[in-house]
Amino acid sequence: MSNHLFDLVRANLAADPTTKIFVETGEGARFTYADLMARSGAYAAALVGLGVRPGDRVAVQAEKSPEFLFLYLGTVRAGAVFLPLNTAYTAHEVAYFLGDSEPAVFVCDPGKREALEPVAQGAGVAAFHTLDASGRGSLVEAADAAAGDFSDVARGPDDLAAILYTSGTTGRSKGAMLTHENLASNARTLAVSWRFTADDVLIHALPVFHTHGLFVATNTVLATGGTMLFLAKFDARQVLGLMPRATAMMGVPTFYTRLLREPGLDAAIAKTIRLFVSGSAPLLAETHRDWQARTGHAILERYGMTETNMNTSNPYAGARVAGTVGPALPGVAVRVVDPETGAHLGTDAVGMIEVKGPNVFRGYWRMPEKTAAEFKADGFFITGDLGKIDADGYVHIVGRGKDLIITGGYNVYPKEVENEIDALPGVVESAVIGVPHADFGEGVTAVVVAREGAPDEAAILRTLEARLARYKCPKRVLFVEDLPRNAMGKVQKNVLRETHAGLYQVGKA
Ligand code: AMP
Repeated sequence: MSNHLFDLVRANLAADPTTKIFVETGEGARFTYADLMARSGAYAAALVGLGVRPGDRVAVQAEKSPEFLFLYLGTVRAGAVFLPLNTAYTAHEVAYFLGDSEPAVFVCDPGKREALEPVAQGAGVAAFHTLDASGRGSLVEAADAAAGDFSDVARGPDDLAAILYTSGTTGRSKGAMLTHENLASNARTLAVSWRFTADDVLIHALPVFHTHGLFVATNTVLATGGTMLFLAKFDARQVLGLMPRATAMMGVPTFYTRLLREPGLDAAIAKTIRLFVSGSAPLLAETHRDWQARTGHAILERYGMTETNMNTSNPYAGARVAGTVGPALPGVAVRVVDPETGAHLGTDAVGMIEVKGPNVFRGYWRMPEKTAAEFKADGFFITGDLGKIDADGYVHIVGRGKDLIITGGYNVYPKEVENEIDALPGVVESAVIGVPHADFGEGVTAVVVAREGAPDEAAILRTLEARLARYKCPKRVLFVEDLPRNAMGKVQKNVLRETHAGLYQVGKA
């Protein structure tokens, strides 16, 4: 039977089913593509045995492991919808996700059984199972018992393959519905654009509950029959040690900044690597330059989101421009519009980024109004990211729309101010936020991570006043040890805004 997404993986099996899917990482090292077929088939059979029907959700909050990936593929083969949950979610949060998505099966770590079994029961989930980091658990036993030939459940391009909840930094987290073609088209496009082949060995140190690790990294490798160095988590020293065995790495910017702190990072250790990719959060231009100076490689930065998969990418051959996320990927349309009037904006004008293509999701799970509000009549999705497109067609992101600061009626794009601060000697990085201010509505506020010898608040303000319009200059510069980040390395500006909410209250300014 044709199963649109899994057919992509199946197509690479004929070449050589004895190819290893994972290398060098304990448990996973023994699995070949033939094993991937057998294990994913066993999970599919087990799920069908549990009563899972096409379109049913299979929710999973489990640690990263090869079995996790086989369960993902088994769910797809069973015609069901894979729904991974961030391992950091509490029982309270899991209760919301299970209540909202109404899965047929919920799978979690055996260590969380006591806390989560009642939650699953409370949400009316019929089947509760476990899977741990070493690939053991009640679901694995069910899969072992069900092993045998499995004939894939037929699924077409428009059927759902997965629901991924957005991180939801404002309001309720929304379930992005992703179809077989959303995922398959993006895997095919990335494989071609980034020139992946069966000879590639990808360092995979990303979490698998997020689109970056689950779809961008995993699907691209599976679509080309390559191999992964599948690591439970990112550890800079371990990754550096494994680099000579790999040909590519996909990471968030934090991977690169942490690796740059390792004295052993140089061109020799990165000799076998042909491609370093960064995404999920902005890569500082300085990191791009430092990386090139140390390894000889220009990091390829790309841009995407849970709802849209990947939208733009710097080119494989051609200029990889620091501070940009490159042109639209083949088949994807990207435009910038005036957020108020919807008018299409020309070269270099900053506005709302909108995208359309086979990569763009079908809508938010059971939120038709929210979905309708975020799509234009001509099918473009409003990303919520502000940016511009330059004369060469490269997209520049200036920040999330909700991070835009409005001070005294003027719009301030945080990125512009952050770039100025980051360029100062001794500054490691900065985040510019709007904080409630009686006079201005919001007061521009800079939160800065600095090394010893960096300029102090007064000196930073003096420099900025000479370079930026007065309304863009921060009212205050605060120094911190580290910026708060989520699991994907994104700076949590909402946390900063909450922490400093009282900064300009009377008596404090
Ligand atoms: P997520 O849905 O968790 O993948 O988050 C998507 C958001 O991450 C996008 O809407 C952007 O705001 C941000 N993002 C992803 N890649 C980049 C990038 N290369 N540069 C800047 N922001 C990015």
